[in-house]
Amino acid sequence: MPLSHSTDALNWFHLLAREKIITQSIRSYICEQNEISWDILRTDLIHPVCSGNKFFKLRYYLEEAISHGHKAVHTYGGAWSNHIVATAFAAQACGLQSTGYIRGEEPANWSQTLQDARSYGMNLVFLTRAEFDQQVSSTLHLPTSTLIPMGGYGKPGAKGASEILHYAAHQNYTHIFCAAGTGTMAAGLCQSAGSAQVWVVNVVGNNNPLTNNLLTAIQSLTPNATPTILNASFGGFAKSSPALIDFINRFYQQNSIPTDFVYTGRLMFAIEDLLHKKVLPKGSQILAIHSGGLQGNNSLKSGLLGF
Ligand SMILES: *Cc1c(COP(=O)(O)O)cnc(C)c1O
Repeated sequence: MPLSHSTDALNWFHLLAREKIITQSIRSYICEQNEISWDILRTDLIHPVCSGNKFFKLRYYLEEAISHGHKAVHTYGGAWSNHIVATAFAAQACGLQSTGYIRGEEPANWSQTLQDARSYGMNLVFLTRAEFDQQVSSTLHLPTSTLIPMGGYGKPGAKGASEILHYAAHQNYTHIFCAAGTGTMAAGLCQSAGSAQVWVVNVVGNNNPLTNNLLTAIQSLTPNATPTILNASFGGFAKSSPALIDFINRFYQQNSIPTDFVYTGRLMFAIEDLLHKKVLPKGSQILAIHSGGLQGNNSLKSGLLGF
């Protein structure tokens, strides 16, 4: 019975999430001085590659594929995409085939991400940038395969991400912080945050090729959302800088929490910056979503990070 087998695979993953995710409190002078508590929801601990927000965003696309009787899913991403490798893993866990369309010519040496995606059975197709952009904007619909939009952007993605907060230690937070690329996770958090404010760290910058405008992207999934958006683009999407790398290393030394240089390192940097500037009121209770993405650090020169 492949169908119930596949549904079981999704339930099994949620059991794994329940077992692995913890809420970790940051103990620091800057929090004490501000009289603010700062917790981190460690969704990065779910799984080394299918971690963080990616599984949550994929869940309802996978259910859609299973309920339509499709045997496969297809999606889009770059050579270091967390979304690509997570899709490969999650599809395999549900007994579905997967195809990943990758932006750019096939490289002579495959990235770790692509090698991992292939090891999870993903069929990888390399497209030139022009072909890729054209296919993404025209959305390739196939009769027997479910399309998962790039980054999981869409209402099913946001619905899955709205469930992230179920795993938090309590529901009394005043501020939920997350990093955003497409804004899918942020849109989901806005649906389930209750009275907490959602603060979103845009890691892509103003000329966001994924969304053009992050707030519009979030509101087209969650119309009544009013998140506060901060910029932490550090010179552009997936660019590293010495200041960022120093921060990530110090944050790890102080808290034993590894972060990635594309998303979560910038998120924690932005929160610390707000604390230094005393922007948030006394008594605030912050929850920051550690949305995973650690595999992306493999694209950095080795030796830069102390973990
Ligand atoms: C993909 C990703 C994000 C961005 O999520 P969106 O829903 O696209 O905004 C944030 N953090 C990590 C670690 C990611 O891998």
